[in-house]
Amino acid sequence: MAAQETVEHKYVYDFAEGNKDLKDLLGGKGANLAEMTNLGLPVPPGFIITTEACKAYLATGEEPAGLAGQIATHLEALEREMGRRLGDPDDPLLVSVRSGAKFSMPGMMETVLNVGLNDRSVVGLSAQAGGNDRFAWDSYRRLIQMFGKTVCEVPGEEFEHALDEAKRAKGTTNDLDLDADDLRGLVDAYKKIFVKHTGREFPQEPREQLDLAIRAVFESWNAERAVVYRRQERIPADLGTAVNVVSMVFGNLGPDSGTGVAFTRDPGSGAQGIYGDYLTNAQGEDVVAGIRNTVPLQELEQLDKKSYDELLAFMARLEGHYKDLCDIEFTIERGKLWMLQTRVGKRTAAAAFVIAGQLVDEGVIDLDEALHRVNGAQLAQLMFPRFRLDHEFQPVAKGIGASPGAASGKVVFTSARAVELAAEGEAVILVRRETNPDDLNGMIAAQGILTSRGGKTSHAAVVARGMGKTCVSGADEIDVNVPAKRFTVAGQTVNEGDIVSIDGTTGKVYLGEVPVMPSEVVQYFEGSLDPEHVDNPLVRAVHRIMSHADAKRRLAVRTNADTGADAARARRFGAQGIGLCRTEHMFLGDRRELVERLILARTDDERESALAALLPLQRDDFKEIFREMDGLPVTVRLIDPPLHEFLPPLEQLAVNVAVAQERGEDVAKEEALLAAVRRMHEENPMLGLRGVRLGLVIPGLFAMQVRAIAEAAVAVTRAGAVAKPEIMVPLVGAVQELETVRAEAEKIIAEVVGDSGVEVLIGTMIEVPRAALTAGQIAEAAQFFSFGTNDLTQMAWGFSRDDVEGAFFWRYLELGIFGISPFESIDRDGVGRLVRIAAEEGRAARPELKLGVCGEHGGDPDSVHFFHEVGLDYVSCSPFRVPVARLEAGRAAVETDGSDSR
Ligand code: ADP
Ligand code: MG
Ligand code: MG
Repeated sequence: MAAQETVEHKYVYDFAEGNKDLKDLLGGKGANLAEMTNLGLPVPPGFIITTEACKAYLATGEEPAGLAGQIATHLEALEREMGRRLGDPDDPLLVSVRSGAKFSMPGMMETVLNVGLNDRSVVGLSAQAGGNDRFAWDSYRRLIQMFGKTVCEVPGEEFEHALDEAKRAKGTTNDLDLDADDLRGLVDAYKKIFVKHTGREFPQEPREQLDLAIRAVFESWNAERAVVYRRQERIPADLGTAVNVVSMVFGNLGPDSGTGVAFTRDPGSGAQGIYGDYLTNAQGEDVVAGIRNTVPLQELEQLDKKSYDELLAFMARLEGHYKDLCDIEFTIERGKLWMLQTRVGKRTAAAAFVIAGQLVDEGVIDLDEALHRVNGAQLAQLMFPRFRLDHEFQPVAKGIGASPGAASGKVVFTSARAVELAAEGEAVILVRRETNPDDLNGMIAAQGILTSRGGKTSHAAVVARGMGKTCVSGADEIDVNVPAKRFTVAGQTVNEGDIVSIDGTTGKVYLGEVPVMPSEVVQYFEGSLDPEHVDNPLVRAVHRIMSHADAKRRLAVRTNADTGADAARARRFGAQGIGLCRTEHMFLGDRRELVERLILARTDDERESALAALLPLQRDDFKEIFREMDGLPVTVRLIDPPLHEFLPPLEQLAVNVAVAQERGEDVAKEEALLAAVRRMHEENPMLGLRGVRLGLVIPGLFAMQVRAIAEAAVAVTRAGAVAKPEIMVPLVGAVQELETVRAEAEKIIAEVVGDSGVEVLIGTMIEVPRAALTAGQIAEAAQFFSFGTNDLTQMAWGFSRDDVEGAFFWRYLELGIFGISPFESIDRDGVGRLVRIAAEEGRAARPELKLGVCGEHGGDPDSVHFFHEVGLDYVSCSPFRVPVARLEAGRAAVETDGSDSR
């Protein structure tokens, strides 16, 4: 019989066995501790329990087979290396048990320090520290506190309360004034708290402490706050956390010890230099907990020059190694520096650009890599108007920056009041505990939304982002009292009508009106800041990286613009044409009357005269746009919305008729309009008589528009500019629709264009699922496709955006049915599949078919990458998103370079 060989799964890695690329398995903290160890930096020895062990534990509720043995083996090795044993009463080894997932989740998970101390070894620890009783008891009380809170769910306030009590008894606010006896007393108090809440004594057996702490770290992965955080940050729920077991070094041994954090560059601005905080005679958690005031890292130079110089050298080393901003946690034990953590540090949007630019200058990374290090979301943040924050403005509260922007206005507490004041021309900020679908009108009317509860996926946040409105959510220092029409914050009362300012980027809330200014980056895009000459590192970095993106990208970027002014601005922002010019605004204002005549026409003559009156108006609109876009393509969409949208609402007409009748006036026209509105009423206007259908049932309507476009193009060209019109037919679902429109259009174009040299393309939007699925046929009749991904999304999902975003999207996001609204970022699996099919089948039928997208997705970073992958020729987006799309198109090109065979 063959011997059965079982290879035990490896769940525990020594630091020396890992490296920075093993974050999936070892978590970020562990992988980087391993990397530092292998670089030869002074990391206290330790080992890592893998995320796989965590996942196995979470799946079964038990430690996987073999884990306990492997921990024992690694612990023995650690004890040998350190020359100390866990639990040795005379010279105990102490360890920290630290969580560390693949993505850092600051403050979300748990760490326990000083594991291994008990009533006996606390004495040994003191002896080993040269009779430093204070240090030993301080370490012990910290263990009970952290262990109680983290492992046994003892309410942390109780320990804090007892600590405050001890300080009060001593007549001090500084924990350093507590001596060994005070701390011994505190340990007794802590133990009582522990017994009260857990029904058992504080565990004295070190290995039991260790095992329970490891288990608690595993379980912290599923703690509610961690779950919520992951959802907000879109971190997958199934990664699990690793556990780092690290031999303790002590920053609380006296004035020659301490602990701190450091950044290799300023994570706020990106500026070069040394940034950080240091705290003497303390253990790590004190720095973040803000228990005592830290000193700027620079002061360490006076306190301990040797450690300071060494730290600076390590920082330079790490930055050179990671080729990026690093953040670092360190501890000094009696003049000896220990490195406890490093990672590529988080940074603001501005710092991301500045640092990427600097690293290129320093020759550390190339421009492709710089492009990879920034993203469109950051660029978009840098383009929002900003508060001009002079000294007098201090935030009174800070919530979550749920939807960026800067907004000031009068405080209101109800949707109705928001609508009322907005109608009077007031800027208002809607303040609620949380919003619900009933608040929608108020949210639309407001400049901004402020809530005291809820995170990035709360109703307020989701709806505000959908509307592009500034929103700060979850500002929990604010106490909202809706019935009393006031809120209180930081001891102040703010009443309805008082002015507040909210920053949806930083989440900060200010009292009073903070002035707003355009961002420097926008000034640069507008052309009013010269990147070569301005002394502004951010503008220089943006310029440099944008230029590289432009050089690399394969996707062209166009804009959606309906007026000459929009077209001109977008052109300054780098648009290479117009991808969507809507013609419906040309039917508004004083032109409504002509539309009414068109709708009410009883004879061909009446209809034709209404259309004839519209023709020159439209022609002038197009001329202006063609002039602005001289030399660049302009896609004009024939009229899309149902015509009754241009008539007054039913109720208003009914009132008009009644009033006029009362006065004995002639009501014939009003009555006719009313009848028309009733006749044309649609249950589902989104799916009604609109788009190409209008062109097919209202004789002469599309013909008039085609003529206006062609005539404008010819006129502009004769005047010396170059017009490149592309006529786009909306809502086509069948090739026959397009063929009918096209036959008529071609006749008119041939007649108008003559020998002017103007070339007019005719194409269609792909926004009805049937069009995508029959794209091969439709391409026979179309010179270009433009994906209208807004309608395509609505029709693929079967919900209308206006109805659903306020009604139930928050719930879908909460349930994870989608991670992000499909109107914000393209749903690759469903809607994206339709795009892919249409692109492939369209190109198969007509290889030179031009492909673009004109939905809002054209300016969404992730969607831009998708459109690059599918091989579209261009994306089109609103003027302000043009730089974002340029950047992301460049990133997409660089990231797929090499693997992209097109
Ligand atoms: P977080 O992920 O919340 O930063 P850490 O696991 O990094 O938690 O632990 C918090 C702090 O505890 C660290 O910054 C460090 O100062 C301290 N710490 C952790 N392990 C040790 C150790 N082995 N020796 C000394 N201090 C430690
Ligand atoms: Mg840390
Ligand atoms: Mg549409």
